[in-house]
Amino acid sequence: MITVVTPAYNEEGNLRALHERLVAALQACGQRYEWLIVDDASTDATFQVATEIAAADPAVRAYRFSRNFGSHAAILCGLEHSSGDIAVVLAADLQDPPEIIPALLDEIGKGASVVWAAREQREGETFLNVMTSKLFYWVISRVLKVDRTPPKGADFFAITRPVIDSLLRIQEPNLNVFMALCWLGYTQASVPYRKQERFSGTSGWSLVKRFKLAIDSFVASSYTPIRFMSATGLLTSVLGLVYAVTIIYNNIFHGGAVQGWPSLMVITLFSAGMVMSMLGVLGEYVWRSLEASRARPLYIVEKSTSTAAAKGHSTTKDHAHE
Ligand code: UDP
Ligand code: MG
Repeated sequence: MITVVTPAYNEEGNLRALHERLVAALQACGQRYEWLIVDDASTDATFQVATEIAAADPAVRAYRFSRNFGSHAAILCGLEHSSGDIAVVLAADLQDPPEIIPALLDEIGKGASVVWAAREQREGETFLNVMTSKLFYWVISRVLKVDRTPPKGADFFAITRPVIDSLLRIQEPNLNVFMALCWLGYTQASVPYRKQERFSGTSGWSLVKRFKLAIDSFVASSYTPIRFMSATGLLTSVLGLVYAVTIIYNNIFHGGAVQGWPSLMVITLFSAGMVMSMLGVLGEYVWRSLEASRARPLYIVEKSTSTAAAKGHSTTKDHAHE
């Protein structure tokens, strides 16, 4: 059986069209399937629409979060409630065409455990989005040297049951699912596809959310920022020392006029700024270690179309009924 997982945030206009295309694509492969829609606390009628689809199609189930937890938490929730031998994750906005699914399953048939649909082209996305995304993956692979990165970014992939189970064992807050999948290893393959324009609605990934994901991914997967911090601190001190020697030299050989108030001020400001930003980097790690030690559930399901999960399932063993 194949489980399709779809995170959905304000996607009321897309779900029915996606359902139709999904069913057609899955029936073409002649396999049993279930479709799990995880509503990330949308402010529109997404859950209502999902419930209606679920009422008409017994293969469909819908879950609704108690608040917006982000699409990565929604993906984890879907996988947690999945019972398929293979899970396919795709966005709700039809940017990822369900017609590619048979090609993904083919790769699994050939022995891959993780199959990425690698976007060759991105239609209908803003220049800013494409550029920030490219910058993000460039920094991850070239600067932070995380050697396992999804091919050309990722939104859309298929994984086998062992991979699903391994992924769910990672109980980390702020988890970037795509990078976690790369970290897991297994045999990975990719199938190129053309990312299409959004069917309806607007992107739920604001620049602020993207920025948060980027920081989370950097901090989670690398201590290069900490090393950078120490290196910059060291360099600043060395430069300060050299400057101090220059001042002393000038003082001895050219007379001791009280000069250079501006340069002093500049250096003070500069180094204070440095110290503060470095402390900020350190704070990132401290905050994350605090968050991890609190071991809160990664998401909270408020209601769902299946009664079993309606009691507030979460990925941690001790459920928080908040
Ligand atoms: N999404 C979500 N929670 C959010 C933002 C987005 O579950 O807070 C879902 C969204 O409904 C879609 C998928 O994540 O199914 C990808 O998001 P979107 O299409 O908005 O992002 P983009 O394609 O612009 O990167
Ligand atoms: Mg999209």
